[in-house]
Amino acid sequence: MATKSKTKKQTEQEQKINVLFAIFEAVPFMKTGGLGDVGGSMPFELKKAGLNVRVIMPKFDTIPEEYTSRMVHVTDFYVPLGWRNLYCGIEKLMYKGLTFYFVDNEYYFHRGAPYGYFDDGERIAFFAKAVVEAMTHLPRFKCDILHCNDWHTALAPVFLREFYHGDKIWDNVKTVLTVHNLKFQGKYSDYVLGDVLGLKGIKAAEDQLSCGRQTINYLKGGLCYTDAITMVSPTYAEEVTDPFFGEGVEDVLRRRRSIMRGILNGIDYTAYNPEKDKAIKEHFSADDLTGKAECKRLLQAELGLPENPEVPIIAMIGRLTAQKGCDLLTRVFGEIAGLGAQIVILGTGDKKYEDALKGFAYEFGDNFRLLLKFDEALSHRIYAGADMLLMPSVFEPCGLAQMIAMAYGTLPVVRETGGLKDTVRPYNKFTGEGNGFSFAHINAHEMLFTLKDAVALFKEDKEAWRKLQLTAMKEDYSWEKSSLEYRKIYEELLGRG
Ligand code: ADP
Repeated sequence: MATKSKTKKQTEQEQKINVLFAIFEAVPFMKTGGLGDVGGSMPFELKKAGLNVRVIMPKFDTIPEEYTSRMVHVTDFYVPLGWRNLYCGIEKLMYKGLTFYFVDNEYYFHRGAPYGYFDDGERIAFFAKAVVEAMTHLPRFKCDILHCNDWHTALAPVFLREFYHGDKIWDNVKTVLTVHNLKFQGKYSDYVLGDVLGLKGIKAAEDQLSCGRQTINYLKGGLCYTDAITMVSPTYAEEVTDPFFGEGVEDVLRRRRSIMRGILNGIDYTAYNPEKDKAIKEHFSADDLTGKAECKRLLQAELGLPENPEVPIIAMIGRLTAQKGCDLLTRVFGEIAGLGAQIVILGTGDKKYEDALKGFAYEFGDNFRLLLKFDEALSHRIYAGADMLLMPSVFEPCGLAQMIAMAYGTLPVVRETGGLKDTVRPYNKFTGEGNGFSFAHINAHEMLFTLKDAVALFKEDKEAWRKLQLTAMKEDYSWEKSSLEYRKIYEELLGRG
C-alpha cells in the first residue's frame, strides 16, 4: 500500500507544471519596492495553485545572516557572457516550504545595494544568463515555464532562444514575462550588444533589442522574445498600448497584444494584517476599530504631531518620483496643508521632490512630518495609524500601497489609472458605496478638491466614513484569483488543460 500511494504521489508531482520564477527582489531577502513584495508572496500562491515553483534571485550581500547561514551550496558552473566566462554558484534555501535558489557571484552582487552601479547592464545580463544556464544544473527539476519579472530578467527569453536553441532541455521551456513597471527598461549603449550580450551579428536579436540610435533595450528584447506577456493590472494592460503610457515600446505591445494579459497583483495578508501585525502595538479588525484609534494616537505621539483624533492624517508612502504624482503634490502642497489635516510622508526619491518637501516641512512644521527614509516597520505604523493614503500617480501599473492601506482601514485617495482604477471604487455620496476616493485627471486642483471632500467627510459624517472603512477592510486582494489566472496561462503555453 505504502509503495502504491508513494507512486501516486510521485505521478502527481511529475504532472505538476515546474515553474522557475526569476526575480531580482523577494521579501525577506531583498525589497526596494513593490517588486520585493511580489517576489515574496506570489510564488507561494502559485504553489498553492498546484504548481511546482522554485524562485531564483541574486545572492546579495545584504541578505540577513539568519538566511545566508542556512543556505546550502547546490552546484556551480561558469556562465559565458560576451568574452567573459564567469563563476556562478547556486545556493539553496528552503523558506516557508518553498525552494529559493540564490545566484552567487561576489563580484556582481556584493555591492551593498541591488542597483545603481556603473555596470548594472552587465550585472543584470549576467543574472539573466545564469538563470538560463542554471536550468540544466538544478537537481530533480526540469523547468517547464520560466517566469521572468521586469527588465532584470527580460534577457533570459532572448538568451534562451538565441544561444540554447536546439537542445531539448531548453527547447521545451516556455517563457512568461511579467512587467511590473514599463518605465524601467534597462537601456544601454549598443556596445553591450557584442561586449556583454554576445549578440552582435545576430540580426534578429540586434533588431529586436535596439531602440533608437545606438541604444539597446533589455525589456524590449524580452517583450519580443517571450511566449506570454503579463501586465500587473487589467487597466494597465490596456493603457500601455497608448504612447502616453507605453514608454516607447507601445508599438511592440500593440503588435504582441494577443499574447498579453493584465493580471492584478495581490498582497500578502499574513504580512499586512491589522489583527496580528507585529510592527504595530494595538491590533484591530473590521469588527472592532478601537485599536486603530490607538494606533493613530501612538503615531501622532511618535511623530510629535498634536494627539487629536478629530484631525485626519493624510499619509503618503512610496517613491518620491514624478510617477507617484509628486508634481501634483508639490504644486498644491500649501493648499493641502490648509485643509485642517495632518500630513505624513514616508519615502525617498528624486532630489528635487525631497528638497521641495523639506521646504514645506519647514514652512508647515505644525502639521506635516517628512520622513526621508525606507523603513518597513514605520510604514506599517503609518498604514495602521493614518486615515487616508494619498496616491496621485500619473501612472500606476498595479500599486500595492493602496491595497495595504485598505487592509488597515485607511482610505485611499488615488488617481484613476492602472491598478488604482482596478482596486479603488470612489465614494458615492448618494448611495454611500465605495472603498476610497479618486479623481480622473492629472490635475493638482482635482486632487486637492478630492482631498478636501475626503477631509470633509471624515470630519462631518463619521457613519459614512466608517462604512467606507469597513468596505475597504473587507476587500479581498489576495493572490488566489490571480495565481489561477497565471496557472491558466502556463497550461495554455504547454498545451495542457
Ligand atoms: P512601487 O511602484 O514602488 O513598487 P507599490 O505601491 O507597488 O509601488 O509598492 C511599494 C511598496 O514599498 C509597498 O509595500 C510600500 O509600503 C513600500 N514602500 C515604499 N516606500 C517605502 C518606504 N520609504 N519605507 C517603507 N516602505 C516603503
